[in-house]
Amino acid sequence: MRDWLIALITGICQLAAYCTAICAANFAFLPLYCRAQELYGTPPADIDVRIENLVKSYPEWILGREGDVLVLKGGKKFQISDGIRTKTFDELLEKPDIDDMFYVPYPKGPEPAQPARNSDPGRVRYEPLFVTMYGDCKLNEVSRNLRIIEWLPKRGGGKVSITKINGIDLALESVSKDLDELPLGFTKYLKPTSGTYNCRAVAGSIVRSMHAYAASIDLNASYANYWRWTSLSTEPKWQNQIPLQIVRVFEKHGFIWGGYWYHYDTMHFEYRPELLADVPGSRR
Ligand SMILES: [Zn+2]
Repeated sequence: MRDWLIALITGICQLAAYCTAICAANFAFLPLYCRAQELYGTPPADIDVRIENLVKSYPEWILGREGDVLVLKGGKKFQISDGIRTKTFDELLEKPDIDDMFYVPYPKGPEPAQPARNSDPGRVRYEPLFVTMYGDCKLNEVSRNLRIIEWLPKRGGGKVSITKINGIDLALESVSKDLDELPLGFTKYLKPTSGTYNCRAVAGSIVRSMHAYAASIDLNASYANYWRWTSLSTEPKWQNQIPLQIVRVFEKHGFIWGGYWYHYDTMHFEYRPELLADVPGSRR
């Protein structure tokens, strides 16, 4: 091979290595090159435990795992991995497989702080599984499973509708009961609520929101921070006003918090016990 060609190839490789090192350093001024090369889809090292947690979290629906397949009680089977490890972040959200739901662990325990770039534990959802469990709201399959519960009865929080599937109505009643015991200073964050069931996609996306399954609740929007409410042309800078005591009550009953997301949504809680289950050997 000609010397100039070897020099050119070597130069390109060195430049790529240099850019990769810059990206790995996670500077605030990440160049477009870095965004283009962040790829997702590789299962986490502890995926077997994660799948076990998923099976345990939805015993009414999931029979178990057979090799690479998740077997549901009705006979449905879902491939755990689609084998694609080169997804962009948008593809991760829009076309995830089952193992992609665990691409980052939910940070149960630590004080919330600025999450790492694109670390949105819980925001990736394998839609066929959730539609199987909760129904398709466009076909009116979700509304038939709704139950109205009293929200914070001691504080007159009104009524909210939530799905009965997976006992989420009972879980939210337990949340409500525990929150009702918090000091009165917490009330402003908790009521009025800003919505539970809503047959809609995630804002700016084709992906179904957990609100479309009636499996989530938004607290008082007046004390919320949401990444889309800030400039969309810059990296989201994490902000939060929700006290951690409130987050811990929800987590105790199987709900995760959108405040732990890089694309944060601090009034948002959704029922995702599979992400809260303990993993042996983890910090949690
Ligand atoms: Zn929400």
